[in-house]
Amino acid sequence: MSAKIIDGKRIAAEVREGVKADVEEMKAKFNYTPGLATVLVGVNSASATYVRMKQKACAEAGIRSIGHELPADATQEEVEELVASLNADPDVNGILVQLPLPDHLDEEAVLNKIDLTKDVDGFHPVNIGRLSMKGRDPLFIPCTPYGIIVLLESAGVQMSGAEAVVVGRSNIVGLPVAMLLQKENATVTICHSRTRDLAEHTREADIVIAAIGRAEMITGDMLKPGAAVIDVGINRKDDPTKKRGYRLVGDVEYDSASEVAGAITPVPGGVGPMTIAMLLKNTLRAADYVVGNQRPVPA
Ligand code: NAP
Repeated sequence: MSAKIIDGKRIAAEVREGVKADVEEMKAKFNYTPGLATVLVGVNSASATYVRMKQKACAEAGIRSIGHELPADATQEEVEELVASLNADPDVNGILVQLPLPDHLDEEAVLNKIDLTKDVDGFHPVNIGRLSMKGRDPLFIPCTPYGIIVLLESAGVQMSGAEAVVVGRSNIVGLPVAMLLQKENATVTICHSRTRDLAEHTREADIVIAAIGRAEMITGDMLKPGAAVIDVGINRKDDPTKKRGYRLVGDVEYDSASEVAGAITPVPGGVGPMTIAMLLKNTLRAADYVVGNQRPVPA
């Protein structure tokens, strides 16, 4: 069997086109342009790159982005004051604090300060709480998990009634994606570093979400034939044939897995592009709350 490739690059481009059209409609109908504020503390080059990518994506979708940079030695008070001023700014719909913050800062305290209606990353504990509760909806769904659900939907994967195994339980990926899958009526098992026999679980799964951070850990022999496999991992693997000396691989061993799976995301080009696309969608939703536009809450 050779798996159908779930093309995250194409699906993300479609989401971004959709957001762009909705932003144009919002400008025409409400004379209002959504705005995203980014907060970058210190000079972590990977974080700076991510922020630049997010700002570029905003520009392409017609969303204003307002960049704020604080020095690496900024105090907790300074960061929290900036967040408070962005909470109060009517031109700012979404606030994105780029993580990780420098070690001396209390990340949780900063994220808790973000106004719930501007929490476009969806990491506020109230948003995660609502995501977890029956009959409640979060104001925003965390971007990577949201993107994973859109990928499964786009690939026509039946979630209702499916056995889903999520490997990883982080606050940003594993836990919220497990909550979303159970909202979609899947029967969800969460596996982690203390799981006794991982393969025993993954072999029973119709859907496997790998969010581990370990290169090529999930191999084809750990999968049920026909399973849908979403690979969230981004890992460097030594590769002397590449100029930079490495290539990016996922948490799933692509070659063996794609022989067994029914559908699979590649790395790169799978989950990665979806994260930014869903951030744009969340920023549009934040602007909806301001102008009073009604849009159904997904998932
Ligand atoms: P994380 O916070 O390090 O969490 C990793 C999870 O994997 C933990 O729950 C851990 O279990 C579990 N784990 C570790 N070793 C395991 C093992 N041997 N067997 C089973 N479970 C194991 O990582 P994360 O932030 O969720 O990120 C996961 C991966 O996704 C990383 O490669 C990251 O780069 C990537 N990522 C990609 C995107 C994207 O946009 N594509 C976004 C976010 C993250 P414990 O809880 O027991 O420690």
